[in-house]
Amino acid sequence: MFSYEEIKTIRNHFPSLNNQDNHRIYFDNAATTQKPVQVINAINKYYCHLNSNVNRSFNLLDQWTNNDLELSRTNMKDFIHAKYRDEIIFTSGTTESINLIAFCLSNMINKSDDIIISHSEHHSNIIPWQVLIQNKNAHLKVIPVNSEGELNLIVLKQLITKNTKLISISHVTNTFGIINPIQKLIQTAHKYKALVLIDGSQAISHISIDVQKLDCDFYVFSIHKMYGPTGLGILYGKQKVLDKFTPYQGGGGMIEQVTFNQTIFSGLPFKLEAGTPNIAGIIGTNKALTFLGNYSMIQIKHYENKLIQYAIQMLMNIHGIQIYYKNSKRTQMLSFNIEKIHYFDLGQLLNNYGIAVRTGTHCAQPIMDYLNINGTIRLSFALYNTMAEIDIFYHYLIKCLYILSYDQKHSTFKVNKFKRIRINT
Ligand code: PLP
Repeated sequence: MFSYEEIKTIRNHFPSLNNQDNHRIYFDNAATTQKPVQVINAINKYYCHLNSNVNRSFNLLDQWTNNDLELSRTNMKDFIHAKYRDEIIFTSGTTESINLIAFCLSNMINKSDDIIISHSEHHSNIIPWQVLIQNKNAHLKVIPVNSEGELNLIVLKQLITKNTKLISISHVTNTFGIINPIQKLIQTAHKYKALVLIDGSQAISHISIDVQKLDCDFYVFSIHKMYGPTGLGILYGKQKVLDKFTPYQGGGGMIEQVTFNQTIFSGLPFKLEAGTPNIAGIIGTNKALTFLGNYSMIQIKHYENKLIQYAIQMLMNIHGIQIYYKNSKRTQMLSFNIEKIHYFDLGQLLNNYGIAVRTGTHCAQPIMDYLNINGTIRLSFALYNTMAEIDIFYHYLIKCLYILSYDQKHSTFKVNKFKRIRINT
């Protein structure tokens, strides 16, 4: 658990949290996190002092930049406990990582093969597979969720066959923050020789990841959700699987030799990284890893869990609230609706008070359809959020509910009952 002083120090690393013009409570960290000054400075330094391409000119600047970029790759390998550096591919984000895998797997998928996803995937873990199976006349199967909002592994056992080529599942759902039982899923998949892709976008900055222990074939995520820059993602793949991939894109930086008759591609990771990479972003990523490395994941998880439990405890005082899967194993996120209140109205009003939450379907329409709802209000925390912010949020939430004609007579909320621990007023 972090102390009051530690959280204050953490918050001081984030210029946007201390920007008086922009003073607000930011509870939309599942969409993207704020960036620490170390990341911003590293990007600034690259553009002010280095600014060269990589693996092209072989001048001193190019070499320095290249060293920085490869250091980031090595540190990322260590961060997710991959075996080899070559297993870390830089992409533009989770979306590109999944599309790249779908493209490269397409020549391994035949008519009547199937791909399995779950009911609560982000659209970027649905659409690439839909496109692939349509092109191949293959099948898409969907694992439903159980009463805890987790993958129903009993149904998985009925769906999986020897024709299943891939299971692609989120580690943590982006709608409700539910932690899926991926270890068991991976074991089941491998019995059928199916590959497993884990979308770790909502897990990477909250849970310690060991891809070797998990034994997943792919693990993908976006850097902007882990205190790093936008426009950058990671595709981890087992070397023996990535070796079989033919390049997704052709261009500079991924070849040994090109003639008009044929091209000889470089080995991993370069054959999957055509064109000039997001150099500044990759250098910034290294600083995001250093920042996160200052804290243990257990400590982060513990602290964020305290925040989430505190928020749930407060919200439960509101009559007519539904917190989805509130007792399930979760990370730092929760979603709710309040009877007779439209999530959009509430989100807009909270925004007027300087509180940023996410409303809508969260790019996961199928799970909303399954629950027969149009959307939710989502709160998602990061390690710089505080209980004092939750107090303030709750105070304004009640205010907004009054404005939206919430029936006060039925309410049991008691704002003053909670101790305020303001640190950033
Ligand atoms: N998968 C999950 C679970 C997500 O939460 C998100 C983004 O919210 C994505 C995929 C897509 O990430 P990006 O837009 O950074 O590619």
